[in-house]
Amino acid sequence: MGTPAVTSKLPSVGTTIFTVMSGLANETGAINLSQGFPGFPVSGELIDLVNQAMRAGHNQYAPMPGIMGLREQISDKMEGLYGHRYDPNHEITITAGGTQALFSAITAFVQPGDEVIVLEPAYDSYIPAIQLAGGVPVPVALQAPDFRPDWSEVRSKCTSRTRLIIINTPQNPTGMVFTEEDMQALLSITHDTDILILSDEVYEHILFDGHPHRSVASYPGLAERSLVVFSFGKTYHATGWKCGYVLAPAELMREFRKVHQFTVFSVNTPLQYALADFMQERSHYSGLPAFYQAKRDLFRKLIAQSRFRILPCHGSYFQLLDYSTITNEVDTEFAKQLTRSHGVASIPVSVFYTTPPANQRLLRFCFAKEDHMLEAAAERLCAV
Ligand code: PMP
Ligand code: GLN
Repeated sequence: MGTPAVTSKLPSVGTTIFTVMSGLANETGAINLSQGFPGFPVSGELIDLVNQAMRAGHNQYAPMPGIMGLREQISDKMEGLYGHRYDPNHEITITAGGTQALFSAITAFVQPGDEVIVLEPAYDSYIPAIQLAGGVPVPVALQAPDFRPDWSEVRSKCTSRTRLIIINTPQNPTGMVFTEEDMQALLSITHDTDILILSDEVYEHILFDGHPHRSVASYPGLAERSLVVFSFGKTYHATGWKCGYVLAPAELMREFRKVHQFTVFSVNTPLQYALADFMQERSHYSGLPAFYQAKRDLFRKLIAQSRFRILPCHGSYFQLLDYSTITNEVDTEFAKQLTRSHGVASIPVSVFYTTPPANQRLLRFCFAKEDHMLEAAAERLCAV
C-alpha cells in the first residue's frame, strides 16, 4: 500500500535556507558566512561548570519553567540592564533556545484567523509558526538601505483582528536597531488596544557605535503586553546548546507555559545550573559590543574595495551586501554561484520575505568569525 498520502500543513516550506547554505558550504569547502553562528569557542570555565553540574547529579528533569537559580539571575540581569523586575516565579521561563520560545508564544496566543504583523525581511521561523496556528501573517516591508520601520504603515495595517506584532531588535538579517522614536511609535500604536508584542531580542548584546539596546522591558506600556525572547546561544557563543528564555507578565506567562509544558516540558538541566553560575559575571557579555564591532569594522574595511555595496549595520552579527553592480541574477542563484565559484557562502535575503522586492539584490554575511576567516572571505569577495 505504501506511505499514506498526507496534506502538508506548510506546503510552501522546504528545508530552511540555513541548512541548505551550510550544507553547500560543507560540500564545496567554501568559507561559511551563511548560517549565523559564532566561530569562537565556548568559555572553558562554562564548560567546566556544565561538567560539574552533571557530576553533582543534576541530570534529571528540571522544573517545568526552569531552575529557580537561573530564573533569579535573569530577573536580576533584566532589572539591572532594563529597569524592569520580572518575578522569577511567574514571569520567567527557560526555553530550548529562542526558536522554541517564539514558536510556543505564537502557538499560545494566535487563534485561527488572527492577524500577526511581521516586519520583513524577517527571521524565518515567525511566519511558519503563525501559519501552523491558523493565523494570518500581515507583512510590513522595511525599506532598504536603512530598513527603518514605517510606523504609519504598521498603524494602517492594525485591525480588530490584530493579535500580535512581532519585532526584532537588533534585527536579523538587516542589522537595523530600534531607536527611541521606534519605541514611542510602538507605544502609541498599541496603547489602549489588546495587541500583544512578541519582542525577539536575542542580539541584545550586539549593538555598535555606542547605541544602547532598547528592550520593550524598559517601557512599562510595552512590557505589560509583551513576551520578550532571549537566547544564551548568542550571548555565550553556544548556539548548539539551544537554551534561551522568555519573559512576560504573569497572566501571559500562564498561557505560554500551558504550551511550553507540552512542547518540551522542561529544558536541559545541567546547562541551567552552569549558566546560573556563569551569568553572574557581567564581564562575559559587557565586552560583546566592542568585540563584535571590531569584527564588523574589519569585514567592512576588507571589502571596501570590492564591487559589493556595503549597507549600514548597527547591530546583530550580520552584514548585508548589495551585488547589483555585479549581476542582475536573483539572490538565491547568486548565493549558490558565489559559494561554488568563489568559495564564500552567504544567505540570500529574499528568503526572509513573503513577497521579495523585485529588484533587490542583497546577500547576508555572518561576521561572527575569526579574523583570518574574514580576511580569507574578503579576499575572495574582492575578486568577484
Ligand atoms: N531570533 C533570531 C532573530 C535569530 O537570529 C535566531 C537564531 N539565529 C533565533 C531567534 C533563534 O535563537 P536560538 O538559536 O536560541 O533558537
Ligand atoms: N539564526 C541563525 C541565522 O539567522 C540560524 C538559525 C538556524 O540555523 N535555524 O542564521
